[in-house]
Amino acid sequence: MSGRIHHLSCATMCPTAGRIPALAPSRLVAHCLLVEGPAGLTLVDTGFGSADVADPVGRRGRLCVTAIGARMDLALTAVAQVRALGYDPSDVRDIVVTHLDGDHAGGLGDFPWARVHVHADELATARARTKMLDNTRYRAKQWAHGPNWVEHRADGDRWFGFESVRAVGDGVLLVPLRGHTFGHSAVAVRRPGGGWFLHAGDGYYFTDEKLTPPSCPPGLRAMQVTMEMDRRSRIANQHRVRELHAAHGDEITIICAHDASEFDALAAVTD
Ligand SMILES: [Zn+2]
Repeated sequence: MSGRIHHLSCATMCPTAGRIPALAPSRLVAHCLLVEGPAGLTLVDTGFGSADVADPVGRRGRLCVTAIGARMDLALTAVAQVRALGYDPSDVRDIVVTHLDGDHAGGLGDFPWARVHVHADELATARARTKMLDNTRYRAKQWAHGPNWVEHRADGDRWFGFESVRAVGDGVLLVPLRGHTFGHSAVAVRRPGGGWFLHAGDGYYFTDEKLTPPSCPPGLRAMQVTMEMDRRSRIANQHRVRELHAAHGDEITIICAHDASEFDALAAVTD
């Protein structure tokens, strides 16, 4: 495999707030990366999986499906897109998840043989589900098949000022970015032609949050506050992402999971 990186959107969501353009975008994506490596394919985040498409309410819950306006489509699942690119799903040997919310972990069951790299705090929080919202965001059915978890803890190297960074594969790094959830992480992927992608997961929701000063439609801002587990860390880490973009934007292309404009700009490009 040549080291190419593919951009996949493995879900489309049209949130209720997006009916009023000033409140929120009308379309959100689930931006995932498919990375070719010497030992096979690595998938960064998984969007919705085929079992979510078959039974959206059973897998995700009615409130979740209606509030985020999930548009279920088998063709968007990672496994379908892996096949459409000419690979065999069994080529996906590793999956790295930014966190385990239902719109990021839904596709795990389509690759039951894969190693699933996750921050240890994230897996512990998802398993414990101590708050009422936890049962809405974390859907245990999505990992009922018993994934081959590889937990990463808070030690490791530094990467552009970020600490406790763990290499999870060739040129793929797990970069802790706590806030949205306790074990939320970004994933850095080295580009074959030089430079990096930093997939910041749900560390921010809107592309202009990378700018100084940042801006974000109020509906998306409210959604981030509703879903945050650790506000202080979320705000501090969003600030660090902004600093990284300002200082190294020419070298590091930062993307988040749900901004459609970032995805659309990169979808046609294959490194
Ligand atoms: Zn999300």
